[in-house]
Amino acid sequence: MPDLSGHTVLVLHAHPDDEAIFSGLTLRRLADAGARTVLVLGTAGELGGSRVPLRPGETVPERRVAELEAAAGLLGVARLVLLGGRDSGLPGGPGTAHPRALAAADPLALARRVADLAEAEGAATLVHDDDGGIYGHPDHRAVHRVGALAAALTGATAYRTTVDREHLHTAARDGHLVHGAARSARTPFGRVTAEIALAVTGTPGQLAVKRAAITAHASQLGPEDVPEDGFAAAYGYEWYRRSGAPGVLDALGNAHLLAGAR
Ligand SMILES: [Zn+2]
Repeated sequence: MPDLSGHTVLVLHAHPDDEAIFSGLTLRRLADAGARTVLVLGTAGELGGSRVPLRPGETVPERRVAELEAAAGLLGVARLVLLGGRDSGLPGGPGTAHPRALAAADPLALARRVADLAEAEGAATLVHDDDGGIYGHPDHRAVHRVGALAAALTGATAYRTTVDREHLHTAARDGHLVHGAARSARTPFGRVTAEIALAVTGTPGQLAVKRAAITAHASQLGPEDVPEDGFAAAYGYEWYRRSGAPGVLDALGNAHLLAGAR
């Protein structure tokens, strides 16, 4: 296992559950290797609704933040920061017009806050969505703009979160949550294998923690949505493009190169 003590990685996501689905293994592995992780969320997922009854007086964002805190605990996140944007929903929906919609926020103002946070934390590595927003969701695209600007402001190495659509097509068919999300957003998703710089994988134990972190978001999905059978094929890798020199995430090893060499 690499020793990453002394390193801090700032990981930016749009909605509670994205951190577990798209970078849960990476977060757990960074923590296991001794790195400090700071998880920054653009929104509280206000428009996700809830598939389970809320407590009296409880709101969807309150519930989702509580779930996020539980997931972050499982993933070994050292500090959780909410940027306070509001879920923008899908294009054409009423959420995009809300004055606090993340997708309509000034990306430079948010990037300055993220850059200040990264500098205060001594984080030389940023993780944020790819410019395709993984599956085109306006908030994921916004997180890309904010993260890319923050990386430019700080000079940090930036890893851009995506999925390998070829891998998912062959290994997981319809078995990854991104398939349904992309259908809802009516967009293609992810990248082809050749566009991806790094694939992080983990042990069965780390993968089990990732599954627990995903299902901690019980207002959004249940264990049946991420069945154990096929979980490793669909969620056993996390994919990144990279801007800048190889950084801390590369120290976790690159399953992509191993697969390519076979
Ligand atoms: Zn999301």
